[in-house]
Amino acid sequence: MSDITQRLDQVRERIRAAAAQFNRDPAAIGLLAVSKTRPAGDIRQALEAGQRRFGENYLQEALTKIGQLHGSGAEWHFIGRIQGNKTRPIAEHFDWVHSIDREKHARRLNDQRPGGLPPLNICLQVRIDQEESKGGLDPDQAAALIALMPELPRLRLRGLMTLPAPSDDPRIQRRAFRALRELRDRLASTTLPLTTLSMGMSEDLESAIAEGSTLVRVGTAIFGPRQARPANDTTQP
Ligand SMILES: *Cc1c(COP(=O)(O)O)cnc(C)c1O
Repeated sequence: MSDITQRLDQVRERIRAAAAQFNRDPAAIGLLAVSKTRPAGDIRQALEAGQRRFGENYLQEALTKIGQLHGSGAEWHFIGRIQGNKTRPIAEHFDWVHSIDREKHARRLNDQRPGGLPPLNICLQVRIDQEESKGGLDPDQAAALIALMPELPRLRLRGLMTLPAPSDDPRIQRRAFRALRELRDRLASTTLPLTTLSMGMSEDLESAIAEGSTLVRVGTAIFGPRQARPANDTTQP
């Protein structure tokens, strides 16, 4: 068994154990394998081990791999910072975008989503802990953007995503994830149930599952420690 296959099994086991511990249905918790900085060969190994969903942060690098893995059945999720002038390739090549935090980006992705493809699945990225600098909408900005969704038929709003400041204290981890779930509960409606909660990474996926995560985004625990990001890519994490 390759290292990636083995680590993928360990991550699946962590998800199962956390689901059992916190009374969650394990089938309701998806795994997004975050493959930023990893070569296509690593993604192929994960595909052979049954993993389908992959998350990428850096646009140029991602487009290369999406080309290399054409026809593999991989589902591509953009989870990095969006640059305003680079939305078109995201609209054309990805299945999901988790990191929408500006109305302008939502409008551009809507306008640029090719007619031959299904609507682009999106999550709104929300800043849950105020001190953090990683981007994201404030809760009232999220509400305002949700109100615009009827004008954006080429986007399909699936839920919310957050990237809290790292902490090794499970109480602090859970507080941020709980805040995202509570915000989701306030913003959800019959027409937009916001079923996806994209939260939890290698270090804190158990806390995220405890608080209702439906999609954990895991890189290091599957692919091993990362090298620096590719030098020819100017997009931000
Ligand atoms: C890199 C990244 C992850 C995965 O982080 P790990 O700690 O390697 O599991 C998840 N979400 C986002 C937005 C990321 O940029």
